[in-house]
Amino acid sequence: MSTPPILNFIDGHYTEGTSGRTFEDRSPVDNRLVGIVHEAGPAEVDAAVTAAKQALEGPWGRMNSTERAALLNRVADLIMEQKDAFIAAEINDTGKPYGPTAQGEIPRSADQFRVFAQIMLDERAPEPIETPLPRGGRALNYEKRVPKGVIATICPWNLPLIMATWKLAPALACGNTVVIKPSEETPASVTLLGKVMNEAGIPPGVVNVVHGFGVGSAGQLLVQHKGVDAVTFTGETGSGAAIMQDAARDLKDVSLELGGKNPALIFADCDLEKAIQGTAMSAFHNCGQVCLGTERVYVERSIFPAFVEGLKQQAEGLRPGSPFDKETTLGPLSSLKHRDKALTYMQKAVEEGAEVITGGGVPEMPSELVDGAWVQPTIWTGLPETSAVVQEEIFGPFCHVQPFDAEDEAIAMANNTEYGLAAAVWSQDKEKAGRVANQLKAGVIWVNGWMIRDLRTPFGGFNKSGIGREGGRHSLEFYTEIKNICVVQ
Ligand code: NAD
Repeated sequence: MSTPPILNFIDGHYTEGTSGRTFEDRSPVDNRLVGIVHEAGPAEVDAAVTAAKQALEGPWGRMNSTERAALLNRVADLIMEQKDAFIAAEINDTGKPYGPTAQGEIPRSADQFRVFAQIMLDERAPEPIETPLPRGGRALNYEKRVPKGVIATICPWNLPLIMATWKLAPALACGNTVVIKPSEETPASVTLLGKVMNEAGIPPGVVNVVHGFGVGSAGQLLVQHKGVDAVTFTGETGSGAAIMQDAARDLKDVSLELGGKNPALIFADCDLEKAIQGTAMSAFHNCGQVCLGTERVYVERSIFPAFVEGLKQQAEGLRPGSPFDKETTLGPLSSLKHRDKALTYMQKAVEEGAEVITGGGVPEMPSELVDGAWVQPTIWTGLPETSAVVQEEIFGPFCHVQPFDAEDEAIAMANNTEYGLAAAVWSQDKEKAGRVANQLKAGVIWVNGWMIRDLRTPFGGFNKSGIGREGGRHSLEFYTEIKNICVVQ
């Protein structure tokens, strides 16, 4: 059977393009070839941005939010009708277990179109502001939101369809047009969106997909293109900084959702079982490749042994395996390249003097899976707070656990990071939990839970975890311009 091509989607058509360059898309489950991706060169990126620019002037640009909402709801329906194709594409690229992909990633991606369409429908312009004029009479000032224009959307590989639609849905709900550059590691599911857009009746050019890498390839070409009005990016902090520099040349607005090294604070008065399960989920879900996941765990000393034992049991209870095996609860890392990075941290941890509580290597896998990017869920303790393993984002099923004696000490250690994306606090003392949450420097803080993500709430990070907020009405701030129309009466 020949390997399917993964094409660019420009102005309503799938195209190989003219760059003549292709690259391989491999499954991290067993390293088999699952697609040949056609890389977009300068001509394709230019064609995509031009199509997006022209689409703003066409029927799409004349639609009101009710008309756009109807189309976006249709997009959501079609994703669900075609869910088997999306699930297969997502699993081929990421190796995630079937259950979470079918029940989580795909329906959530469809939902984002519904939710953001509704947020835009609920949006009401504020009352006009009345300005008295010096020589009598008055003027009325009306605030009007208009689309920002062509949005470049650059996505990571950890949750390919969710991350793309999290940006695509509000951008479209606000009336923009979009050029998406999915991660080179996971190009397949986003590519399928082209077909869905056409079937839903979204006009050609409104959504375009170009494939390639970052620097010197489609990603950078897109950010630097003069026809792009704003850039929304999710990925590593270093890439975000490079993108911001490129965008600054033309003063393009940027929204940056970047890395994290998120803490969980476990107090002795927590519900221990729930805290163990919640922390295990936050450290190991999606093989630890969730930007909001926990990589640093601070535990009050009196419950440290019991907590660590419980977390160890959770880690050791995870079953790596084929995504289609019902017993599988742990997929591989996203690529062999990412596993190489993870394994250097395994080594570094030992060199830095960590005690390995569990894991620390590559699991034994059956022969058909042995070439995949598998790692053992790993828990370390005993490292100083200054060590690389405690300070740097690893992005895998790994965490470091550290005891603490006092609330202030725990808060200080949690805040001792250059990131600030998320944090979790586990305590049954509501007053204490609130006090601690108020002092943590992070964009999203959960108390006695993890990953409860209402799409209407603000999302983004402090410090090197990002710039700006998306989610709910905050997405409207990024995806629209506001003009003031002053009418003399
Ligand atoms: P990455 O930065 O390597 O790549 C992300 C995307 O950016 C890819 O499509 C890549 O091709 C492109 N890219 C890279 N450099 C570029 C450049 N200079 N110009 C234009 N495009 C460029 O990130 P990744 O490894 O794919 O994803 C993992 C990272 O994403 C982790 O750091 C994780 O924390 C972060 N992440 C953050 C969030 C969040 O919401 N804050 C969510 C998911 C993932």
